[in-house]
Order: sequence, then C-alpha cells, then structure tokens
Amino acid sequence: MAAAGIPEKTQLAIIGAGPGGYHAAFHAADLGLQVTLIDPAENPGGVCLYRGCIPSKALLHVAGVVGEAAESAAIGVKFAPPEIDIARVRTWKNEVIDKLTGALGMQAGRKKITHIRGTATLSGPHTLQVVTNEGEAGALAFEQAILATGSRPVMLPGTEPTARIMNSTGALDLEDVPASLLVVGGGYIGLELGSAYAALGSEVSVVEMTGGLLPGCDRDLVSVLKRRLDRKFKAIMLNTKVEAMTEKKDGVTVTFADKKGSRTESFAKVLIAIGRRPHTRDLGLETAGIEVDGKGFVQVDAQRRTSAGHIYAIGDIAGEPMLAHKAYREAAVAAESAAAGKAVYDPRAIPAVVFTDPEIAWCGLTETEARAAGRKVTTAKLPWRGNGRTLTLGRDDGLTKLITDPETGVLLGVALVGPGAGELIAEGVLALEMAATVEDLRHTIHPHPTLSETVFDAAWALPPR
Ligand code: NAD
Repeated sequence: MAAAGIPEKTQLAIIGAGPGGYHAAFHAADLGLQVTLIDPAENPGGVCLYRGCIPSKALLHVAGVVGEAAESAAIGVKFAPPEIDIARVRTWKNEVIDKLTGALGMQAGRKKITHIRGTATLSGPHTLQVVTNEGEAGALAFEQAILATGSRPVMLPGTEPTARIMNSTGALDLEDVPASLLVVGGGYIGLELGSAYAALGSEVSVVEMTGGLLPGCDRDLVSVLKRRLDRKFKAIMLNTKVEAMTEKKDGVTVTFADKKGSRTESFAKVLIAIGRRPHTRDLGLETAGIEVDGKGFVQVDAQRRTSAGHIYAIGDIAGEPMLAHKAYREAAVAAESAAAGKAVYDPRAIPAVVFTDPEIAWCGLTETEARAAGRKVTTAKLPWRGNGRTLTLGRDDGLTKLITDPETGVLLGVALVGPGAGELIAEGVLALEMAATVEDLRHTIHPHPTLSETVFDAAWALPPR
C-alpha cells in the first residue's frame, strides 16, 4: 500500500526540482507524460533560485548601484555615501526568490505534475523509496526516471560550514556585513560574492591557489577584470595556499603559505568557494546499475540516458560545466527522449558568464584551448575604449575577442569582458550554433550606439580573407 501523498506508480519520476528537474518536468508534462517531481523545497527552484544564481545576482545588483553611485562623481553627479539597510536588502532578495519559485510552483500545479516535498532514493531499477518532509515513507514505482539532484559546495578538508566559515549558501543568507572577509577560491562564486560583500562594506581579500583568477578563462579578459578588482579588494593573493584555519570567538585566524613562506592573518568571516561536487551520494545509483566516473559524475549518452537506459541524468550530476542553462538544454533532450521523441544533446557552444563588474562572458573555443591543442586560429581583439556607448556609460574598460578558422572564416569562439558582457554573449552563442562566418557578422547590421557594435567592429578588424 502506498502512503497517503505518495502515489504507487508514475510514468516519469524526476528527482530534484532545480533548473534541470523542473524544466524536464514541465516539458515532459507538456508532451503528455504523467510526471511525479520530488524535492524537499516548498516550490521548484533548486540551488539556482534558492541558494545560487538568483540571490547572488540580486546582491550583485545592489553592488552595481553602490558602485555606479560612487563613480558618478567623475561625470558630475555626486551622491552621499550609501546607507545600507542590510535587513531590507535581505528581505528584497528573499522576495525575488519567493516570486520566482512561487510562480514555478503554480506552473507545476497547472501542468498537473504530482509534486512531492521530500527526498527519494533509488531502491531498484524501477522503484524509488520516498520520504516526505512530514516523515511519511513509501515506495514509488516508475516506468522512467530523470535524476537531477545537482551539486553541493566543496569545503576545505577538515572544515564544516559555521556562522563564521561560510560556503556560498551561508554567504547568500546575508546574516550581516562582516568588517573583513576572506574569500578562499578566485573562481565564479568567490569573485561574484566577494564583489557583492565589498560593495556592501566588507574589506575583502581573496586567496587563490593557482597563478590566476578564473582558471579556464583567457588571461587577456581576466586582466581587464583584475584591474578593477585590485581597487575594490584589499588583497588578491595568487599562488597561495590556506595551511590552517582556526575559528575563534571574534573571528577566524588563517595561515597562508606561498613561495616566500607562511604568515597568519585574522578575518571576521571566511567564504569558502573552491568548487562544487555532484550530488550523487546516497542516491542508490548502484541499485539500478548506474555508473559514475572518477569525479562522481553520472555517465550519460547523447540522450542523457544513464547506463540503466530508462533512467536519465541531467544538470550538475551529469558533468561539467555545472551551469543552469546547460541543465535546461539537457532537460529538454531527456524529456523528449522519455516521451519517445528524437532529441540529442550536442551544443556547439555553452556560454560561461561571470557576473562581476565588469562581466566576463565567453563561448566556444578559447584562445588558450586553441594554443594548447596547437590549432591555428585567427583572432581579433577590440578594446571597448573606442566604442561610443562604452564612453557614454562613463567607462573605458572592455574587450571583445573573436576566434575564427583562418581557412573558412567560421567563428570558433567569442569572448567579451565589459559591462553587460553576459547579455551580449547570446549573439556569439547563436552565431556559433548557426556556424556563422566572419562575413555573416560583417553583413549583420548592429544597432548604434550599442556595446554590441564591438562584435561587429571586431569582425571588420579581422584581416580580409
Ligand atoms: P570554481 O571552479 O569556479 O572556482 C574555484 C576556485 O578555487 C578555482 O580558481 C580554484 O583554483 C580555487 N581553489 C581550489 N581549491 C583551493 C584552495 N584550497 N585554496 C585556494 N583556492 C582554491 O568554483 P566555484 O567558484 O566554487 O563555483 C562552483 C561552480 O558553480 C562553478 O564552476 C560554476 O559551474 C558554478 N557557478 C556559476 C556561476 C555563473 O554562471 N555565473 C556563478 C557561481 C557558480
């Protein structure tokens, strides 16, 4: 007998209601499948909406307002220093989350999706053991399933999240604005949340174990961002390791080690942002014969089918990059495949965006990857200081880079750093998906005066073929 609230069977069970899970649920329901979606949160949204992309972008908007007000004195508009009402900032951020997740909950209802607030574990190839948030337990038989359980933040060995040693979840709770904040990890999360806290008034230091910020991103883009971050942050320590961390009543004492030796410094709080790990532990994968790789990612094929065939995996658990928009595409492919449609996951470009100021965005081949592979490419690099719209924004920083095939002129990669780069990259993604050439970009009329003209001008800056 099934427990009340847990159906005995379903056509498609989806575990996890983040961007991958809810997208797959909505799409599969639209395609006529009877869907059961299981997640402990009240509404769909997952890490992205509750504890990731959306709250961090809300805080970065606050940072943007503070930053623009401070810089506008240079263009003749002077504001008094900001007074930050941290409780109101926190409430507004939570209102944004509630609006978005509430709307998704209503959509799930309209699509007649059975939504169970609880957790699920595979107990065999066609069964899940479900425990609701109220503690009811029961078995759910499924014909097909989609696993979309996401990822969790990695902590430094020997540390657990506390009020002073935070991961991204704690930092986004915005309990207070610490006088000093050490960010461990100079990647996406460290730089985005470090920027937000710096604008709110914290003295921010970043420690990164490699020789540069944002490993994986071309250095010429990073250096444009770093010039600004050097002014906003107290320190950026590269090639530096955290040797020890001790939590005290009034702060955290941290020992750093670099090639000069060891030293100790104290901070009010620490944010650890050294990567994320797929959330596959305790999912019962072995009961259904599902294979994972050495990093814990579930192995999937082009339809996102696992080794179990009728069970799919999408989003962060199915491999890098761990980005919501990659999960959306995988969700559509898995849902269509589950509904017996023909779909394949084969993107030519997945955009990466770092929402700092300036933003960095890129897609397709990077120059670093081309060089490492010994691949011949022709590149155009266009600094934004010659772009009218950039100067009218009171800025002169920014760079647009196009990477092309010298033989065919086909665009291989697009990279941008500058205000709004995250919006501009969409043109590059479409161009790559459509196999556009330099001529296509040159013959496309771009609106004037806009930052998008830097893409057009970069295309004209390439040598004639
Ligand atoms: P990340 O991989 O972007 O960066 C981690 C950084 O920490 C790297 O620079 C790494 O060299 C460094 N590091 C690792 N161990 C360290 C140590 N012991 N001491 C000092 N530095 C160390 O990871 P993240 O910032 O935690 O973000 C996790 C993932 O979340 C990202 O890879 C991304 O997929 C996703 N994310 C995306 C966005 C976005 O799209 N804007 C924003 C936030 C997070």
